[in-house]
Amino acid sequence: MTDVPPLRIAPVSDADRDALSALLIETVAANGSVGFMHPLPIADADAFWSQALASAQRGERVILGAWRGDRLVGTGTLVVAMAPSQPHRAELTKVMTAESARGSGVGAALIAALEQVARGHDKSLLTLDAAVIEGATVFYRRLGYRSAGDIPDYAYKPLGGLGATRVFWKSLDASGGARVASPRDEDERWMRRALELAERAVIEDDEIPVGAIVVSPDGQVIGEGWNRNIAEHDPSAHAEIVAMRRAGQALGNHRLVGCTLYVTLEPCAMCAMAMIHARVARVVHGASDPKTGAAGSVFDLLADPRHNHRVEVTGGVLADEAGTRLTNYFRGKRGKPPL
Ligand SMILES: [Zn+2]
Repeated sequence: MTDVPPLRIAPVSDADRDALSALLIETVAANGSVGFMHPLPIADADAFWSQALASAQRGERVILGAWRGDRLVGTGTLVVAMAPSQPHRAELTKVMTAESARGSGVGAALIAALEQVARGHDKSLLTLDAAVIEGATVFYRRLGYRSAGDIPDYAYKPLGGLGATRVFWKSLDASGGARVASPRDEDERWMRRALELAERAVIEDDEIPVGAIVVSPDGQVIGEGWNRNIAEHDPSAHAEIVAMRRAGQALGNHRLVGCTLYVTLEPCAMCAMAMIHARVARVVHGASDPKTGAAGSVFDLLADPRHNHRVEVTGGVLADEAGTRLTNYFRGKRGKPPL
Protein backbone atom coordinates (compact mmCIF):
# COMPACT_ATOMS: atom_id res chain seq x y z
CA MET A 1 0.00 0.00 0.00
CA THR A 2 3.04 2.28 -0.17
CA ASP A 3 2.08 3.55 -3.62
CA VAL A 4 -1.19 5.14 -2.43
CA PRO A 5 -0.90 8.88 -3.13
CA PRO A 6 -1.28 11.14 -0.10
CA LEU A 7 -4.68 12.63 0.62
CA ARG A 8 -5.16 16.23 -0.43
CA ILE A 9 -8.11 18.23 0.88
CA ALA A 10 -9.09 21.56 -0.66
CA PRO A 11 -12.19 23.52 -1.68
CA VAL A 12 -13.81 22.26 -4.87
CA SER A 13 -14.44 24.40 -7.94
CA ASP A 14 -16.78 24.31 -10.94
CA ALA A 15 -14.20 22.12 -12.71
CA ASP A 16 -14.91 19.37 -10.19
CA ARG A 17 -18.64 19.17 -10.89
CA ASP A 18 -18.55 15.99 -12.97
CA ALA A 19 -16.46 14.18 -10.37
CA LEU A 20 -18.78 15.39 -7.60
CA SER A 21 -21.82 14.17 -9.54
CA ALA A 22 -20.23 10.76 -10.07
CA LEU A 23 -19.50 10.50 -6.33
CA LEU A 24 -23.05 11.51 -5.45
CA ILE A 25 -24.55 8.95 -7.85
CA GLU A 26 -22.25 6.24 -6.46
CA THR A 27 -23.21 7.12 -2.88
CA VAL A 28 -26.93 7.03 -3.64
CA ALA A 29 -26.59 3.72 -5.50
CA ALA A 30 -24.92 2.28 -2.35
CA ASN A 31 -27.99 3.37 -0.30
CA GLY A 32 -26.16 6.30 1.27
CA SER A 33 -28.65 8.75 2.79
CA VAL A 34 -27.74 12.11 1.28
CA GLY A 35 -31.20 13.34 0.33
CA PHE A 36 -31.70 11.55 -3.00
CA MET A 37 -33.42 8.42 -4.29
CA HIS A 38 -31.82 5.75 -6.46
CA PRO A 39 -31.38 5.80 -9.44
CA LEU A 40 -30.18 9.40 -9.49
CA PRO A 41 -30.08 10.79 -13.08
CA ILE A 42 -26.84 12.55 -13.99
CA ALA A 43 -28.78 15.70 -14.91
CA ASP A 44 -30.23 15.86 -11.37
CA ALA A 45 -26.82 15.31 -9.78
CA ASP A 46 -25.32 18.01 -11.99
CA ALA A 47 -28.15 20.39 -11.13
CA PHE A 48 -27.64 19.80 -7.43
CA TRP A 49 -23.91 20.51 -7.58
CA SER A 50 -24.37 23.53 -9.85
CA GLN A 51 -26.64 25.06 -7.23
CA ALA A 52 -24.35 24.04 -4.38
CA LEU A 53 -21.28 25.50 -6.15
CA ALA A 54 -23.18 28.74 -6.75
CA SER A 55 -24.10 28.81 -3.08
CA ALA A 56 -20.42 28.31 -2.22
CA GLN A 57 -19.57 31.21 -4.57
CA ARG A 58 -21.94 33.39 -2.55
CA GLY A 59 -20.14 32.38 0.64
CA GLU A 60 -23.10 30.49 2.10
CA ARG A 61 -21.27 27.18 2.26
CA VAL A 62 -17.83 25.68 1.91
CA ILE A 63 -17.50 22.49 -0.14
CA LEU A 64 -14.28 20.54 0.37
CA GLY A 65 -13.00 17.73 -1.80
CA ALA A 66 -10.53 15.00 -0.89
CA TRP A 67 -8.24 13.77 -3.65
CA ARG A 68 -5.76 10.99 -4.00
CA GLY A 69 -3.70 11.97 -6.99
CA ASP A 70 -6.24 13.22 -9.55
CA ARG A 71 -9.08 11.14 -8.17
CA LEU A 72 -11.82 12.72 -6.07
CA VAL A 73 -12.37 10.21 -3.25
CA GLY A 74 -14.54 12.23 -0.91
CA THR A 75 -16.40 15.43 -0.27
CA GLY A 76 -18.04 17.27 2.62
CA THR A 77 -19.98 20.53 2.95
CA LEU A 78 -20.17 23.05 5.74
CA VAL A 79 -23.20 25.33 5.56
CA VAL A 80 -22.11 28.55 7.23
CA ALA A 81 -25.04 30.85 6.36
CA MET A 82 -27.53 30.29 9.16
CA ALA A 83 -30.51 32.11 10.62
CA PRO A 84 -29.72 35.45 12.32
CA SER A 85 -30.34 33.83 15.71
CA GLN A 86 -27.64 31.20 15.05
CA PRO A 87 -24.55 33.07 13.88
CA HIS A 88 -22.38 30.68 15.91
CA ARG A 89 -23.74 27.49 14.29
CA ALA A 90 -22.76 25.66 11.11
CA GLU A 91 -24.16 22.49 9.62
CA LEU A 92 -22.15 19.58 8.26
CA THR A 93 -23.81 17.92 5.29
CA LYS A 94 -23.21 15.78 2.20
CA VAL A 95 -20.18 14.02 3.64
CA MET A 96 -19.37 11.20 1.21
CA THR A 97 -16.47 8.85 0.67
CA ALA A 98 -15.93 6.82 -2.51
CA GLU A 99 -16.48 3.11 -2.00
CA SER A 100 -12.88 2.44 -3.06
CA ALA A 101 -11.53 4.74 -0.33
CA ARG A 102 -13.62 3.52 2.61
CA GLY A 103 -11.78 2.76 5.82
CA SER A 104 -8.75 4.82 4.89
CA GLY A 105 -9.51 7.84 7.06
CA VAL A 106 -10.94 10.04 4.29
CA GLY A 107 -14.16 10.81 6.17
CA ALA A 108 -12.37 11.70 9.41
CA ALA A 109 -9.86 13.88 7.54
CA LEU A 110 -12.68 15.70 5.73
CA ILE A 111 -14.53 16.38 8.96
CA ALA A 112 -11.37 17.62 10.68
CA ALA A 113 -10.81 19.98 7.74
CA LEU A 114 -14.43 21.17 7.82
CA GLU A 115 -14.06 21.87 11.55
CA GLN A 116 -11.03 24.04 10.77
CA VAL A 117 -13.12 25.92 8.22
CA ALA A 118 -15.84 26.34 10.87
CA ARG A 119 -13.32 27.83 13.31
CA GLY A 120 -12.17 30.18 10.61
CA HIS A 121 -15.77 31.40 10.36
CA ASP A 122 -15.93 31.84 14.17
CA LYS A 123 -18.40 28.99 14.49
CA SER A 124 -18.60 27.33 17.89
CA LEU A 125 -21.39 24.80 17.32
CA LEU A 126 -21.57 22.16 14.61
CA THR A 127 -24.66 20.08 13.92
CA LEU A 128 -25.39 17.25 11.53
CA ASP A 129 -27.84 14.46 11.02
CA ALA A 130 -26.97 11.00 9.82
CA ALA A 131 -29.02 7.93 9.00
CA VAL A 132 -28.96 5.44 11.85
CA ILE A 133 -26.73 2.79 10.32
CA GLU A 134 -24.13 0.57 11.86
CA GLY A 135 -20.82 2.32 12.30
CA ALA A 136 -22.04 5.89 11.81
CA THR A 137 -22.49 6.60 15.50
CA VAL A 138 -19.12 5.15 16.43
CA PHE A 139 -17.55 7.21 13.64
CA TYR A 140 -19.01 10.53 14.78
CA ARG A 141 -18.56 9.85 18.52
CA ARG A 142 -14.94 9.08 17.89
CA LEU A 143 -14.61 12.53 16.35
CA GLY A 144 -16.13 14.08 19.47
CA TYR A 145 -19.75 14.43 18.31
CA ARG A 146 -22.59 13.85 20.74
CA SER A 147 -25.95 12.39 19.90
CA ALA A 148 -29.02 14.48 20.62
CA GLY A 149 -31.34 11.59 19.83
CA ASP A 150 -33.09 9.76 17.04
CA ILE A 151 -36.02 10.70 14.85
CA PRO A 152 -37.82 7.59 13.57
CA ASP A 153 -39.02 7.34 9.96
CA TYR A 154 -37.18 10.52 9.09
CA ALA A 155 -36.41 9.88 5.43
CA TYR A 156 -36.64 7.29 2.69
CA LYS A 157 -33.41 5.45 2.02
CA PRO A 158 -32.23 5.67 -1.59
CA LEU A 159 -33.16 2.05 -2.24
CA GLY A 160 -36.50 2.35 -0.44
CA GLY A 161 -37.92 2.04 3.07
CA LEU A 162 -38.11 4.67 5.76
CA GLY A 163 -35.15 4.97 8.10
CA ALA A 164 -34.37 6.79 11.33
CA THR A 165 -32.00 9.73 11.61
CA ARG A 166 -29.65 10.55 14.48
CA VAL A 167 -28.90 14.18 15.26
CA PHE A 168 -25.31 14.95 16.30
CA TRP A 169 -23.64 18.07 17.61
CA LYS A 170 -20.22 19.21 18.68
CA SER A 171 -19.15 22.26 20.58
CA LEU A 172 -15.95 23.71 19.19
CA ASP A 173 -15.24 26.29 21.85
CA ALA A 174 -14.99 24.14 24.99
CA SER A 175 -11.53 22.84 24.23
CA GLY A 176 -10.30 25.72 22.10
CA GLY A 177 -9.62 23.45 19.17
CA ALA A 178 -6.22 22.23 20.25
CA ARG A 179 -7.59 19.00 21.65
CA VAL A 180 -10.42 18.41 19.23
CA ALA A 181 -8.27 16.48 16.80
CA SER A 182 -7.74 13.73 19.35
CA PRO A 183 -4.38 12.04 19.23
CA ARG A 184 -5.79 8.77 18.01
CA ASP A 185 -2.58 6.77 18.27
CA GLU A 186 -2.10 8.00 21.81
CA ASP A 187 -5.68 7.06 22.66
CA GLU A 188 -5.20 3.57 21.28
CA ARG A 189 -1.97 3.15 23.22
CA TRP A 190 -3.69 3.97 26.52
CA MET A 191 -6.74 1.92 25.61
CA ARG A 192 -4.48 -1.11 25.17
CA ARG A 193 -3.38 -0.63 28.79
CA ALA A 194 -7.02 -0.51 29.86
CA LEU A 195 -7.74 -3.68 27.83
CA GLU A 196 -4.93 -5.46 29.67
CA LEU A 197 -6.65 -4.56 32.92
CA ALA A 198 -9.96 -5.84 31.55
CA GLU A 199 -8.20 -9.14 30.95
CA ARG A 200 -7.05 -9.21 34.57
CA ALA A 201 -10.64 -8.76 35.73
CA VAL A 202 -11.40 -12.14 34.16
CA ILE A 203 -8.18 -13.95 34.98
CA GLU A 204 -7.73 -12.77 38.57
CA ASP A 205 -11.28 -12.18 39.74
CA ASP A 206 -13.62 -13.82 37.20
CA GLU A 207 -15.38 -10.47 36.89
CA ILE A 208 -16.89 -8.78 33.83
CA PRO A 209 -13.92 -7.63 31.67
CA VAL A 210 -13.87 -3.87 31.98
CA GLY A 211 -10.63 -1.98 32.62
CA ALA A 212 -9.90 1.70 33.26
CA ILE A 213 -6.91 3.96 33.74
CA VAL A 214 -6.54 7.60 34.73
CA VAL A 215 -3.78 9.52 32.94
CA SER A 216 -2.51 12.81 34.38
CA PRO A 217 -2.07 15.94 32.22
CA ASP A 218 1.66 15.18 31.96
CA GLY A 219 1.01 11.68 30.65
CA GLN A 220 1.49 9.52 33.76
CA VAL A 221 -0.82 6.67 34.73
CA ILE A 222 -1.99 7.65 38.21
CA GLY A 223 -4.81 5.16 38.68
CA GLU A 224 -5.74 1.73 37.35
CA GLY A 225 -8.79 -0.38 37.96
CA TRP A 226 -10.94 -3.21 36.78
CA ASN A 227 -14.32 -4.47 37.81
CA ARG A 228 -14.24 -5.69 41.43
CA ASN A 229 -17.93 -5.82 42.33
CA ILE A 230 -18.05 -9.47 43.28
CA ALA A 231 -14.63 -9.67 44.92
CA GLU A 232 -15.17 -6.56 47.04
CA HIS A 233 -18.91 -7.10 47.70
CA ASP A 234 -19.18 -3.54 46.43
CA PRO A 235 -21.88 -2.43 43.97
CA SER A 236 -19.88 0.72 43.23
CA ALA A 237 -16.59 -1.04 42.42
CA HIS A 238 -16.73 -0.44 38.67
CA ALA A 239 -13.39 -0.19 36.88
CA GLU A 240 -13.69 3.60 36.54
CA ILE A 241 -14.48 4.13 40.23
CA VAL A 242 -11.57 1.92 41.30
CA ALA A 243 -9.20 3.79 38.95
CA MET A 244 -10.45 7.23 40.10
CA ARG A 245 -10.11 6.26 43.77
CA ARG A 246 -6.49 5.28 43.21
CA ALA A 247 -5.84 8.44 41.19
CA GLY A 248 -7.32 10.59 43.97
CA GLN A 249 -5.07 8.88 46.50
CA ALA A 250 -2.05 9.31 44.24
CA LEU A 251 -2.72 13.03 43.83
CA GLY A 252 -3.93 13.60 47.39
CA ASN A 253 -6.92 15.37 45.84
CA HIS A 254 -10.54 14.42 45.19
CA ARG A 255 -10.41 16.45 41.97
CA LEU A 256 -8.65 14.94 38.96
CA VAL A 257 -8.29 18.23 37.12
CA GLY A 258 -6.92 17.92 33.58
CA CYS A 259 -6.88 14.12 33.73
CA THR A 260 -8.07 11.74 31.02
CA LEU A 261 -9.92 8.56 31.93
CA TYR A 262 -9.72 5.61 29.55
CA VAL A 263 -12.26 2.82 29.96
CA THR A 264 -12.92 -0.16 27.74
CA LEU A 265 -16.73 0.11 28.00
CA GLU A 266 -18.97 3.17 27.83
CA PRO A 267 -19.44 4.43 31.43
CA CYS A 268 -22.70 3.92 33.33
CA ALA A 269 -24.59 6.78 34.97
CA MET A 270 -22.90 6.25 38.35
CA CYS A 271 -19.41 6.41 36.87
CA ALA A 272 -20.31 9.33 34.60
CA MET A 273 -21.44 11.40 37.57
CA ALA A 274 -18.32 10.46 39.51
CA MET A 275 -16.26 11.74 36.56
CA ILE A 276 -18.17 15.02 36.64
CA HIS A 277 -17.62 15.32 40.40
CA ALA A 278 -13.91 14.60 39.90
CA ARG A 279 -13.66 17.29 37.16
CA VAL A 280 -12.09 14.80 34.75
CA ALA A 281 -11.17 16.69 31.57
CA ARG A 282 -11.68 13.94 29.05
CA VAL A 283 -13.20 10.47 28.86
CA VAL A 284 -12.22 7.99 26.17
CA HIS A 285 -14.22 4.79 26.00
CA GLY A 286 -14.16 1.63 23.93
CA ALA A 287 -17.30 -0.39 23.25
CA SER A 288 -20.72 1.26 23.51
CA ASP A 289 -23.15 -0.07 26.09
CA PRO A 290 -26.66 -0.05 24.59
CA LYS A 291 -28.18 -1.16 27.92
CA THR A 292 -26.74 1.28 30.47
CA GLY A 293 -24.28 3.57 28.66
CA ALA A 294 -24.32 7.16 29.93
CA ALA A 295 -22.05 8.69 27.29
CA GLY A 296 -24.78 8.81 24.67
CA SER A 297 -26.14 5.29 24.23
CA VAL A 298 -28.93 5.43 26.82
CA PHE A 299 -28.25 8.61 28.78
CA ASP A 300 -26.02 11.45 27.68
CA LEU A 301 -24.98 12.48 31.17
CA LEU A 302 -21.39 13.44 30.43
CA ALA A 303 -22.51 15.92 27.80
CA ASP A 304 -25.49 17.35 29.68
CA PRO A 305 -25.12 21.15 29.43
CA ARG A 306 -26.68 21.55 32.89
CA HIS A 307 -23.43 20.48 34.55
CA ASN A 308 -21.09 23.34 35.28
CA HIS A 309 -18.16 21.13 34.31
CA ARG A 310 -17.68 20.02 30.73
CA VAL A 311 -16.13 16.67 29.92
CA GLU A 312 -14.83 15.96 26.43
CA VAL A 313 -15.92 12.50 25.27
CA THR A 314 -14.36 10.26 22.65
CA GLY A 315 -15.96 6.88 22.05
CA GLY A 316 -15.30 3.80 19.97
CA VAL A 317 -11.54 3.51 20.56
CA LEU A 318 -10.60 -0.17 20.05
CA ALA A 319 -14.30 -0.86 20.53
CA ASP A 320 -14.24 -4.16 18.66
CA GLU A 321 -11.56 -5.61 20.92
CA ALA A 322 -13.33 -4.50 24.08
CA GLY A 323 -16.66 -5.76 22.76
CA THR A 324 -15.27 -9.15 21.78
CA ARG A 325 -13.80 -9.62 25.26
CA LEU A 326 -17.16 -8.86 26.82
CA THR A 327 -19.06 -11.10 24.41
CA ASN A 328 -16.67 -13.98 25.01
CA TYR A 329 -16.90 -13.55 28.77
CA PHE A 330 -20.68 -13.87 28.69
CA ARG A 331 -20.52 -16.71 26.14
CA GLY A 332 -18.15 -18.52 28.49
CA LYS A 333 -20.62 -18.09 31.34
CA ARG A 334 -23.26 -19.78 29.20
CA GLY A 335 -20.90 -22.60 28.27
CA LYS A 336 -20.47 -21.42 24.67
CA PRO A 337 -17.14 -21.31 22.84
CA PRO A 338 -15.50 -17.91 22.29
CA LEU A 339 -16.07 -16.08 19.00
ZN1 LIG B 1 -19.98 2.28 36.02
